[in-house]
Amino acid sequence: MTPSSADTGNGRSFLPVDAARAAILDSLQPITGWERVAVRGALGRVLAADIIAPYNVPAHDNSAMDGYAVRAQDLAAEGETALAVVGTAFAGRPFSGIVGAGQAARIMTGASIPQGADTVVVQEVVRRDGEQVFVPAGQQQGQNLRRAGEDLAEGGVALAAGSRCGPAELGLIASLGIAEVVVHRRLRVAILSTGDEIASIGRPLGPGEVYDSNRYTLFGALSRLGCELIDMGVVPDRPEALETAFREAARAADVIITSGGVSVGEADFIREMMARLGEVAFWKLAIKPGRPMAFGRIGDAVLFGLPGNPVAVMVTFYQFVQDALLKLMGVNPLPPAERFPVRAGFALRKQRGRVEYLRGRLQRGADGPTVTLAGAQGSGVLRSMSEADCFIVLPEDCTAVQAGDTVCVQPFHGLV
Ligand code: AMP
Ligand code: MG
Repeated sequence: MTPSSADTGNGRSFLPVDAARAAILDSLQPITGWERVAVRGALGRVLAADIIAPYNVPAHDNSAMDGYAVRAQDLAAEGETALAVVGTAFAGRPFSGIVGAGQAARIMTGASIPQGADTVVVQEVVRRDGEQVFVPAGQQQGQNLRRAGEDLAEGGVALAAGSRCGPAELGLIASLGIAEVVVHRRLRVAILSTGDEIASIGRPLGPGEVYDSNRYTLFGALSRLGCELIDMGVVPDRPEALETAFREAARAADVIITSGGVSVGEADFIREMMARLGEVAFWKLAIKPGRPMAFGRIGDAVLFGLPGNPVAVMVTFYQFVQDALLKLMGVNPLPPAERFPVRAGFALRKQRGRVEYLRGRLQRGADGPTVTLAGAQGSGVLRSMSEADCFIVLPEDCTAVQAGDTVCVQPFHGLV
C-alpha cells in the first residue's frame, strides 16, 4: 500500500502518479453482491455474469436491401439475365416457396432469404417487365445478405461479466429477447468535507468562511458513476467530530471520500486518528494540483483522503479515484486512458518533478487541433474546470512549454 517514492532530483521525494495509481488498483477487489434488474434498470450498471446468446442474431439470413433474391449461378457473365419473379418476401412474412433455376423473388429489407436464393440484387439496378426481372451482369454471390448470427452467434458470449451497460448494451440485451440481467449491487460511497472554514450552502458566510463546493463536485461525479451516495456533510477540524464521522462512514459505506485536511500541518491529528481507526498511508504525490492524498482502509471501507482545493479534488478524483471505483464496481477491463498529442497554443514554465494537469480547451484550426489554457490555473479556480474540455498532461521531466510544442491531452469526454 506504500510504494517507494521517487527522488525528483531536488532532494525531495514524491510518489510518482503511476505508482500511486497502480498501488491503489492492485489493493482493490470488486465488491460482492448482485441483484437482478430489468433491462432498462441496467443502464450504467455492471454485469455480474456473462450474457450468452440464446440464439443467433439475426436469427435467419436476411436481406440488407430492397431488391430481388436470386441464384448467383443463374446469372450470365455478360449482359442481362431474365428471371421469372415467383413471389415476394417481406420482413416478418417470408416467401414460403423455393427460388428455382431461372427464378427470382421480390425481397424487402430484413426479409428472410427464400430457400434456393443466395444473393440479393438491389432494385435500383434491375429492369422489371411484368412477371420478369432483368438483372445486369457483375453481381457478386452472397451480396447484400446479412448472415444468421453475424451480430451474435448462438451460445456465444454476447456481453462479458464486467461490462458496463450503456445504450448499445441495453439494445443488445433486448435484441436477444432477454428481459432481466444480473448486475453488481451499487457501490456505497460516503462523502464528507473537512475544515472549520467550510460552510454548507443555505446560510450566510461568516468571516473567513468558504462555501463547500467539493461535496457538490463529488456528488456529480459519483452520481454519474451510478454510486449510492451517503452525504455526511461538513465535519469541523476537531478530532472527536472527525473520528465519529469516520466510524459512521466506515460502517455504512464501501468507500469513504473526504476532501481537505491531508496537507502538511493539518494532517498530524488526522494521521494519529487514522492509525487508530485503520490503516491509511499519507502520500506526497508528484502531481500538481493535488500533492497530498491519503489512501487506505478504515474497517472494511476504502478511504480516499483528497486534498481540499476544489480543482485538486477533481484532478485527484479523475486520476486516482474513478478507476478505483470502477474496479470496485466490477468493471473489467477498466477503460483505457484516452490520451492524444496535440499542438500547444500557449507557453509556460514548469517545475521539474511533478506531473501537471492543466485545464485546457481544444480548438480546431486550419492546420489541425491546438489546445489553449482554460483561464487561470490556480488549484482553487474551479472555473478552469468548468471552462475546460480536457486536461493538458505535462510529464514530470517537462520544464517548459513553447507555443507549437506537442503536448498530451486527456479529453473530458468519456472521462467526466
Ligand atoms: P486543506 O487541504 O484542508 O488545507 O484545504 C485547502 C484549501 O481548499 C483551503 O483554501 C480550503 O478552504 C479549501 N477547501 C477545503 N475544502 C473545501 C470545500 N469542501 N469546498 C471548497 N473549498 C475547500
Ligand atoms: Mg482544511
